Amino acid sequence: MFISILIHTFTLILLHLQIMSNNTEKKRTGMYENVMHEFNKAADKMNLDAGVRKILASTQNEIVVHFPVKMDDGSIEVFTGYRVQHNNALGPYKGGLRYHPTVDIDAARALATWMTWKSAIAGLPYGGGKGGIQLDPSKYSKGELERITRRFTYALGDNIGPDYDIPAPDVNTNAQIMAWISDTYASAKSPANRSVNLHVVTGKPVLSGGLQGRDRATGFGVVVSIQKWAKKNNVDLKGKTFIIQGFGNVGYWATHFLQELGAKLIAVQDHTGSILNTEGIDSEDLLAYTKTNKGGVSGYSKAKAIDNSEFWKTDCYLLVPAALGNQITTENANDIKASLIAEGANGPTDSAAEEILMKKGIAIIPDILCNSGGVIGSYFEWLQNKRAEIWEIDEVLVKLKQKIETAFDAVVASAEKYQTDYRTAAYIVALAKIEQVYKERGVFP
Ligand code: NAD
Repeated sequence: MFISILIHTFTLILLHLQIMSNNTEKKRTGMYENVMHEFNKAADKMNLDAGVRKILASTQNEIVVHFPVKMDDGSIEVFTGYRVQHNNALGPYKGGLRYHPTVDIDAARALATWMTWKSAIAGLPYGGGKGGIQLDPSKYSKGELERITRRFTYALGDNIGPDYDIPAPDVNTNAQIMAWISDTYASAKSPANRSVNLHVVTGKPVLSGGLQGRDRATGFGVVVSIQKWAKKNNVDLKGKTFIIQGFGNVGYWATHFLQELGAKLIAVQDHTGSILNTEGIDSEDLLAYTKTNKGGVSGYSKAKAIDNSEFWKTDCYLLVPAALGNQITTENANDIKASLIAEGANGPTDSAAEEILMKKGIAIIPDILCNSGGVIGSYFEWLQNKRAEIWEIDEVLVKLKQKIETAFDAVVASAEKYQTDYRTAAYIVALAKIEQVYKERGVFP
């Protein structure tokens, strides 16, 4: 009897500790909290209209779908998918779909809200949306991923659409997944409108209506932003060392274009571990290696393995986070030695960490400006589809560069006008545009 009471008490204590630790983790990784912190700081600074502030402090629609899929072995699994639509004052909802275990309503809300600001800063006729499925795609066969994607698309139904809400690739989703979404969505509609409905997503394969250069658009844009910052601060990027977290679509292309400018990649971290070579890591050689290693950098023989915590302490000029959100926190912000952080990922820096970085004098090019090349590329794809045109890659990159440079200049002007940091300044650029639209149109009825 005594032993059973003891075991029961011990179990309760363990349960309590587990709940506490989950809460701490949740608090630390609450991305939407970060968004609201950033939003409130900017809204206060610019004295945003009180009504518009209330509208933008909330998302417009939150769609959660649970849908069954038949697995290869004949069993059934039920998946949970999300699509959050934050705001469409400037145009249709726009933003990626992510396949990752961390996808939940908090992440989808945060990412959708960032998309609203990002589209507005880039001067695009879009609002913000985001979503995905909570799963680890590495656990499923290609056939299973296709069925999961098609069933998710079917479950979303008319909550997405080529002039209503246009998804795109994000973490662990790619052109192939966009092609499945496009085909499923169009197949569920009248054949007479098939060609229009195929364009419900951007980031499609080129022959299926995709844009040449959409693959590199985000990484290219990150580097255009870095070049703009360097020019403004009289910094020569040639020979400057950099480290990158994430060597997927954004990470690889950012290293590719930085390497073209003569900058030196010395450390990489991804989901498989961290590697370092102070003599330099060739991004093309590393990419070729990752293709033989299930996409991971670990085990690359031309660099040494280091602990993930050591990665953040690497002496370098530039740090490019290009993986997940909330990677730079109070736990590692003090370790960072870079002079500049260019946010390729969405929400890589939490609000408390940002305070530390600012005190250390580290400059930050914020995500909603820095990685906007992706949504700008998606906009070009959408225009190309609407006009039944085919754009050449050189034309795409020239236009992309112009749009990012214009957005960068607007953020710099805002930072100077409001005497504030670039993130707050970027928010103000976005909020001012949306505020004006609400003033012009009013609020129905
Ligand atoms: P991706 O799936 O191609 O690559 C993701 C990378 O992150 C991989 O290298 C993976 O190993 C790494 N990673 C995953 N978990 C990690 C962990 N715990 N620690 C370290 N590394 C980890 O995705 P992507 O399209 O390159 O997106 C990367 C980031 O850029 C995301 O935050 C995404 O929202 C943002 N972004 C992407 C686009 C786009 O066009 N793809 C546009 C704007 C912003």
